[in-house]
Amino acid sequence: MLIMMRPDAFGEEIETVHRKLAEIKVEVIPVSGERQIVFAITGGMGDAELESIATHPGIEKVMRVRQPYKMASRTFQPADTVITIGNCQIGGGHKLIIAGPCSVESEQQMVDTAKLVKQHGATMLRGGAYKPRSSPYSFQGSGEEGLKMLAQAREVSGLPFVTEVMDEETFDLIEEYADLIQIGTRNMQNFSLLKRAGKSRKPILLKRGMSATLEEFLMAAEYILAGGNSNIILCERGIRTFDNYTRNTLDISIIPAVKEVCHLPIIVDPSHACGKWSMVEPLAKAAMAVGADGLMIEVHPQPEKALCDGDQSLKPEKFGNLMVSVRKIMAAM
Ligand code: PEP
Ligand code: MN
Repeated sequence: MLIMMRPDAFGEEIETVHRKLAEIKVEVIPVSGERQIVFAITGGMGDAELESIATHPGIEKVMRVRQPYKMASRTFQPADTVITIGNCQIGGGHKLIIAGPCSVESEQQMVDTAKLVKQHGATMLRGGAYKPRSSPYSFQGSGEEGLKMLAQAREVSGLPFVTEVMDEETFDLIEEYADLIQIGTRNMQNFSLLKRAGKSRKPILLKRGMSATLEEFLMAAEYILAGGNSNIILCERGIRTFDNYTRNTLDISIIPAVKEVCHLPIIVDPSHACGKWSMVEPLAKAAMAVGADGLMIEVHPQPEKALCDGDQSLKPEKFGNLMVSVRKIMAAM
C-alpha cells in the first residue's frame, strides 16, 4: 500500500497521517521523494482502516500495490521515467549509448577514446577508476587519479561519464566527479551502499546481480527509490547459467519483463554478458530490438594491451560498425 501526500501538504497534515498509521500499528516507511512524501505500508491494512485514513486532508492518493516493490512498479507510476544527464536523456523513447574502456588507465587513453566514441555516436563515456576484480593481484583501478582523467576526458569531449562506486567510503568522492554512478553486479544487494545511493543527488546505474531474479533486481532499485533518489537506470549485463562458452548469458527476456512491471529505464551491457568482442554487436542489436533504452559497450583503443577485459573490448572502429547496425535496428523499430 502507498499513501501519497499532496506535494503542497502541510507539515501538520503529514504528521497527522503518520500518527494515525502508527495508531493502527501497520509498518510504515516514510519516503521523502523529490516531489512529495509517500508512506509505504508493508504490512496488511484492512478496508475499514484504509477508509479511516484515506480521507485525511493532505492525502493525494492511496494505492494498493500487489508487488513487493512499490515505487518501482508501474502501478505507482504508469508513465516511463525519463532521466536527464548533462545533455542526454534516457527513458520514454530516449536512448543512451555509453561507451569506453573497462578501466581508466591513462589520460591519453581516456581522451582519445572519448573523442572517438563520440564521433561514432556515443552519448556518454564509461571507465572504472575503482575496479571490483576477482583476484586481489589484478589491477585494482587508478582511484582518484582515474576520476580526474575521466573529468579531463569529459572536458575535452563534452561527454558526461559513468563510473563505478564499490563502497560507502568512496561514495562522496565519486559523487563529486561522476555524472552517473554505477553500482556493479557484485554490489546489487549491498544494502548499505543502496541506501547511500538513495541519498545521492546523482543518478544511479544499477547493474543486475549475476544471479538475481527480476524481483530481487527491482527490490534493489526500491532501496534507492525509498531513500529518495528516483533517477535510476537499470542494466542487464548477463546472468550465470550452466553454459560457459560465453562469460555469462544475456537474459534478453528481462527487458520486456521490466517494461511490463516497472517504469525505470533499462539498458543492456552485451560486453560483460558475452565476454567476447565478436559477439558484442549481434547482442547489442538484439537488445535494441527488444526495446532496451540504451547500451553500455566496452571500447579500448588497443584491446590487446587493456589492463582489464581486453577480450570483450571493441576497437573504436568496430564500435563505429556496431553503431551503424544499431541505428538501422532503431530506425526499423
Ligand atoms: C563494469 O561495468 O566494469 C563491471 C565490472 O561490470 P559488472 O558489475 O556488470 O561485472
Ligand atoms: Mn569490464
